[in-house]
Amino acid sequence: MDFAITPQMQKTLYDIQRFMEQEVYPLEPEVATNGFRATLPKIQAARKQVKDLGFWCPQIPKEHGGMGLNLMEHGMVSSVLGHSLLGHFVFNCQAPDAGNMEILLEHGTPEQKKSFLQPLLRGEIRSCFAMTEPEHAGSNPTWLSTTAVKDGSDYVINGHKWFTSSADGATFAVTMAVTSPDAPPHQRASQILVPLNTPGFKRVKNLSVMGHVGEDHASHSEVRFENCRVPQSNLLGQEGAGFAIAQERLGAGRIHHCMRWVGICERAFDLMCKRAAEREVAPGKPLGTKQIVQSWIAESRAEINASRLMVLEAAWKIQNFGQLAAREEISCIKFYVAGVLLNVLDRAMQTHGGMGLTTETPLAAFYAAERGARIYDGPDEVHKMVVARQRLKKYGVQVST
Ligand SMILES: Cc1cc2nc3c(=O)[nH]c(=O)nc-3n(C[C@H](O)[C@H](O)[C@H](O)COP(=O)(O)OP(=O)(O)OC[C@H]3O[C@@H](n4cnc5c(N)ncnc54)[C@H](O)[C@@H]3O)c2cc1C
Repeated sequence: MDFAITPQMQKTLYDIQRFMEQEVYPLEPEVATNGFRATLPKIQAARKQVKDLGFWCPQIPKEHGGMGLNLMEHGMVSSVLGHSLLGHFVFNCQAPDAGNMEILLEHGTPEQKKSFLQPLLRGEIRSCFAMTEPEHAGSNPTWLSTTAVKDGSDYVINGHKWFTSSADGATFAVTMAVTSPDAPPHQRASQILVPLNTPGFKRVKNLSVMGHVGEDHASHSEVRFENCRVPQSNLLGQEGAGFAIAQERLGAGRIHHCMRWVGICERAFDLMCKRAAEREVAPGKPLGTKQIVQSWIAESRAEINASRLMVLEAAWKIQNFGQLAAREEISCIKFYVAGVLLNVLDRAMQTHGGMGLTTETPLAAFYAAERGARIYDGPDEVHKMVVARQRLKKYGVQVST
């Protein structure tokens, strides 16, 4: 395994870090006070600067207007962007758009690329991914009630979804709907592109997540499809391939998320060390002189280092041998790094005392936004089961789902 980076990549990471400190961190207090939407003009101005600097869409091939980074390189950029909740959005590689860009690039027809992908790549529109339903366990993605029934040259979609992240203000949804109810479970659903101004699409509300209703890109909606009619030409890939495409999307997506979490950990770690050095519990006695705080610092450092290497190893394996070969590594990083993230954030908040729970630092916002890390893209328990099942099979033990 070779994790060495080129001098050019080193410079890119340095330049992106400086941009984050100078242009992105200063936007955080404004978002915390006035909200995402009110700060959007300034965020858009920062996006324009990123485009001009040539750092736009890091993971997208150059011929489509991106930086053309491979998965490991993008992972390293992702960890720097993760230092702020705004980082990925400012560089136009935010979830769920990044995943939608990747599947449209891979499976979109020329017409779908023109209408949906290109404006997404240019950052003119946003998108969302509507799979999870309130009525069924989202951890079993083959169990869906939303249907898309052919009628003339259209699909008529009916269903109820929630946790459709960033639907508020999005232009279209990649929607998972059952098109072949009698097929084997993994071949029942398809992915269909639904413009959100289609009659019958209804955004019911933004869910309040950890006490935050959110807005615009920073939100999670409940939505309904009521006789929502779209042309059959909006089918993405083959009919029945919805689950396979979703799996494809999640492999690289987990590298993006996990490296973003490593980035959050680094920022939290830096804040924790600064506070430990500056806050005196008695005259001349900074917090960092207490053994328990030293222990938090040492444990956090070791866990972050381990996380970074584990994610890079998984990215390296995907890059060299494909996603299937890296199945165990992908599941390991998903639950391990999510746990490290919450541990490090909790220690950093504890080091700050009451201040750690306020908007005076980004820590509380990180925690509220990222408690979901142990749940979305597969809960911890499912990923642990995947790892154990693979391992135990070699010992003759069959683990059922
Ligand atoms: C912040 C956030 C953003 C999200 N964004 C999106 C999005 O953009 N689009 C989208 O479609 N969905 C999204 N989701 C939904 C997410 O994918 C689901 O929440 C997730 O798949 C879990 O499904 P569920 O909530 O229905 O929990 P359930 O499936 O009901 O599971 C509940 C709990 O049961 C346990 N569990 C489940 N299965 C097993 C098992 N096999 N073995 C042992 N324990 C188990 C786990 O602890 C799990 O947390 C988002 C969720 C969050 C929190």
